Parts: sequence; structure tokens; C-alpha cells
Amino acid sequence: VSAPAPRPLAITPGDPNGIGPEVALKAASVARREGIDVVLVGAPATWLSWSIRLGLDSEPLPLDGSGGPVEIDAEDGPAHDGPSTEGGRVALGAIDRAIAGCLAGEFGGMVTAPISKESVRLAGSPFPGHTELLAERAGADNVVMMLVREAAPALRVALVTIHEPLRAVPALVTRQRVAATLAGVSGALQRDWAIGRPRLALLGLNPHAGDGGVIGTEEADILAPALEDARAAGADADGPFPADAFFGRGAWQRYDVVVACYHDQGLAPFKALAQGAGVNVTCGLPFVRTSPDHGTAFDIAGHGKADESSMLEAIRLAAVLAARRDAAG
Ligand SMILES: [Zn+2]
Repeated sequence: VSAPAPRPLAITPGDPNGIGPEVALKAASVARREGIDVVLVGAPATWLSWSIRLGLDSEPLPLDGSGGPVEIDAEDGPAHDGPSTEGGRVALGAIDRAIAGCLAGEFGGMVTAPISKESVRLAGSPFPGHTELLAERAGADNVVMMLVREAAPALRVALVTIHEPLRAVPALVTRQRVAATLAGVSGALQRDWAIGRPRLALLGLNPHAGDGGVIGTEEADILAPALEDARAAGADADGPFPADAFFGRGAWQRYDVVVACYHDQGLAPFKALAQGAGVNVTCGLPFVRTSPDHGTAFDIAGHGKADESSMLEAIRLAAVLAARRDAAG
């Protein structure tokens, strides 16, 4: 008895006026040649018009059959040079289609090209990003955003808080939320990466991780107890570490994942080290979801100059993670 063929991955275009359709089309073409089954979901006109515009129409597109018939004009291209209500609608429609297919078992996972937070807000969505939207739609109560660069030495950074104003961060870094984040990434690395006992490092909130209480007390009052909670639940978690020295001395190489308290604390060093090869993974969903680690780049959209390497890495990683989930049953 042979194993069932892996289910296809759903690819969303992101904002149709950004570089999303371009990097998705280029990356999907390479991925298909590597034997990865993908389906381009969402408005067919978006995919077809970009394919023609970029001269990528020499091969048939793996369009989603549920997208319906389409008439396009070869001159169709980006309709706007920035965020727009229509762009937000197209982006959200594709995401909803991908989520429905993932929840129904039709797709093995989803890989999402970048959306514009401004466009989806104009289109009426209250969510600041994919991660928050997916958590709500999938009914998942402990999702964690993690950026990964799998090439050795593997670098993975997860966030306690995601897209929050900096002034809101301290109140959101609670003992319960930190412990849940540690447990969430530990579980994801066990399940999807097959790492038996993942080693976790937690960064402090304050400079020098509080310097013994002189520069803040959150480390002693919140982070240390959260680490105790995580250890009591079986996680192998260390910290809290001063964030600057932790990256400056390469200490991250001793851990399977680094957990940062807020967006820029984790993502600034990540992006500096990953050099464009980073992939965003949403942990804690009932399906696999990855995306590139860059935005819509409206300023270069439509010129064929967008680099698809992060999108391609996102597709490759989603294929690996989905296959591992399928094998685990
Ligand atoms: Zn972000």
C-alpha cells in the first residue's frame, strides 16, 4: 500500500497591487518543478493578469477550480499604486478560500503572499495581520508567530506580542501569555519539526533583562515565574536573557527557538541575520501556514524585479511541515 499523495498547498496572492502575485507566481513555478503541488486560490483575474503582465504565461496556471470563469484584459495590471479597498477585498477573499479549504482537508496547508494592513482595514477587516485573522477564523486560542531560517545553524524567533503599539506591550506581557507562548512554540517544534525536547530561550523585556531590578522588574515579577510555569509543564526553557548580548554573542545558536517579548526585539536581529531567507510560520493552527517575511513593497510592484526567494522558502517549508503532519496522522 503506497502512501496517499500529499494534498496541495493553497497559495494566496496577498494584495493584488503589491509584489505578492509576482513572488507567488515565480515561486509556485519553481516549487511545481520541484514536485510540490500548489493551487493558486482567490480571484483568477489577479493571477492571470499578472502572469501575462510578467511574461510568465508560458505554462498553465494551477488555478483553483472554485474561482469561476474569468475574462481578463492583457493590459490589466496593478490598478492602484498603494493600499485600496478593492485590493483588501481581493486579498481577504483569497485568505478565506484558503482557510475554508484547509479546514475541510482539501489543502495540506496555506502559503500567503503579503497583504497590506491598510488595504484590509479599508475593506472592513479589523485584523492587523494574517496571524490574528487566521487565529480568529480557525478558532485557535494560542497562536504564536514564529520567524524561521532553517538553513544551518537554524534560527527561529517567536513573539509574545505581535502587532501592538510599543506603549501597549508591557501590560500585554503577562505571566500567563508568556507561559502560553513558550508552551505553544515548544509544542509546534515537537509536532511539526520533530524536535523531541526543544530548547527555548526567553529574552527579557527591559535593557540588560532588568539588571537585577535597577532597569525594571518585569523579569523577576513576570518572566521568571512564566519560565517556571513552562518548565513545570515539561518545556526546556532558559532566561530571561538580555536581548542585545544574546544576539551579539551568538548565544541563539544553542537554542531551537528564541522567544522575544515584542515585534522589533525579535524581528530586527532576525531579519539582519536571515538576509532575506526568513519564513514566517503561524504555530498553533489546525493547519500549516507559512508566508514570506517581507511586505507588499508597493513601490516596486509591476516591474518584475521582486525577489521570490522568501516566498519559495515559505512554500518549501510548508510542504515539509504538511507532509510531517500527514505522516503523524
Ligand atoms: Zn510584522
